[in-house]
Amino acid sequence: MLVILDRDGVINEYDGSYICSPAQWHPLPGSLEAIGQLCGAGFRIAIATNQSGIARGYYDLDTLEAMHDKLRQLLKAHGGTVDFIAYCPHHPDEHCQCRKPATGLFGQIREHYGLGSLTGAVMVGDSRKDLEAGLAVGCDTYLVRTGNGLETEQHLLERPLEGVQVFDNLAAVVDHLLAGKSR
Ligand SMILES: [Mg+2]
Ligand SMILES: [Zn+2]
Repeated sequence: MLVILDRDGVINEYDGSYICSPAQWHPLPGSLEAIGQLCGAGFRIAIATNQSGIARGYYDLDTLEAMHDKLRQLLKAHGGTVDFIAYCPHHPDEHCQCRKPATGLFGQIREHYGLGSLTGAVMVGDSRKDLEAGLAVGCDTYLVRTGNGLETEQHLLERPLEGVQVFDNLAAVVDHLLAGKSR
């Protein structure tokens, strides 16, 4: 089964300010262990991340790659692998087709795996944009309360999104997924 993760606020710490270097990239407690557990159970992992900091000139593609090298290196120690990282480098004003809540990144992921659709894949995010994109492509969509998650959960009370399940963090989502698999 395929699990698509948002990056900032799901895998790594995010307080609303841009993460501009590998030194500023810090995994959330338990997130890499959780991804390692998923991999051990046979799940495939992809990431879909908005990175408008590139268009804004805060960091370049080489630095983004270096952040992702750090992610992959740290994850390896927990037995995890990310197959594919789809990122949107554009500014919101560019109105591209990939910046979530648009679904272009999900299309790239679907093509990477040669899938006809993403129905039944899992999406985990901390922002409404993630949830809207995940739902639009038919994923089982989860909100985590890390990163922007508490704010997003508040917002869902005002403007609900049908079918979103809420968990404290990625580790809790993974516990749920693994429990479902063994059932
Ligand atoms: Mg996020
Ligand atoms: Zn884009």
